[in-house]
Amino acid sequence: MAEANGHRGAASGRGAGANGGAGSGDASVPAPIGPFAIYGQTDHVPFGTLSIAAGGRECYRASVPIPRRYTTDAIVLSRFDFGEADRILTLITPGSGKLKAIAKGIRRPTSRLGGSLEPFAELQVSLARGRNFEVVTQVSVSHAWLRLRDSLEGAATAWYLAELADRSLEEQTPAEPLYGLLRRAYELLDAGMAAGRVARWYEMHLADELGVRPEVDRCAECDRMLEPDGRFRWVPQLGGVICDRCPGPSYDRSGLSLEALKLLKAYQRLDVAGIASLRLAATTEREVEADLREFIGHALERNAKSLAFLDEVRAGVS
Ligand SMILES: [Zn+2]
Repeated sequence: MAEANGHRGAASGRGAGANGGAGSGDASVPAPIGPFAIYGQTDHVPFGTLSIAAGGRECYRASVPIPRRYTTDAIVLSRFDFGEADRILTLITPGSGKLKAIAKGIRRPTSRLGGSLEPFAELQVSLARGRNFEVVTQVSVSHAWLRLRDSLEGAATAWYLAELADRSLEEQTPAEPLYGLLRRAYELLDAGMAAGRVARWYEMHLADELGVRPEVDRCAECDRMLEPDGRFRWVPQLGGVICDRCPGPSYDRSGLSLEALKLLKAYQRLDVAGIASLRLAATTEREVEADLREFIGHALERNAKSLAFLDEVRAGVS
């Protein structure tokens, strides 16, 4: 209690100094919540006593201020030239997810932003909030992952992974797990892990992030454990593998080999070192590539469609 009173006193002193002691009308200002409420203060007020200290002083703000400038880790997902010398970028960041930013004048030879604002690198980007886009004010490269670009397959895979991340994200929604996943995938490509295996590992974990982990242990229809002597079909529309007792598409169209089923399980269970060391037939790798691509393609489609449908349903009910 004594402490609270002490801080109330301190707040009063500040208020008087800032505004000549006037400000009885400030009692209507809601008390700010959380540590950022002291944004702009110079006194040392413990966070825990803010609501008491705030007491309606004019020096506290009614809402949490959003910094106009901030610095964040970021990876460029896509970009296009805009106007005479600008470029518009789609970035993925851990805290703000996907966002659009404009790099003004970047295509001029004299630009300070120059060559560092490139894909396939982890950047540290300083941004200022703009009306439509964030504005890039400074860039530095944290991880260049230069070896990733050495092979065409590595670079093409990196574009594909970036595109999947782009399609998976809403703008301005935190995306720490997906950022970490993309970052790790780029590290693995840079370290020389086979591009196809990095891509499959990424697709499987992306499915997890999207909340649609493929079912590879039980039948996605009847929930029976899959037995090694059974026949299997891969049906992304149903969420994974279905058993031979359940109705479904023909085996010509959707049959899944036992080797491919084992590899799908491996992508869910093994860490990257385990995946990198697997000895696999090329046919099995190709089969799983087609299967996981189809699954992710379906998952991303379905997300959008299901949301549109949900909105329709809601509109109909209200
Ligand atoms: Zn079944």
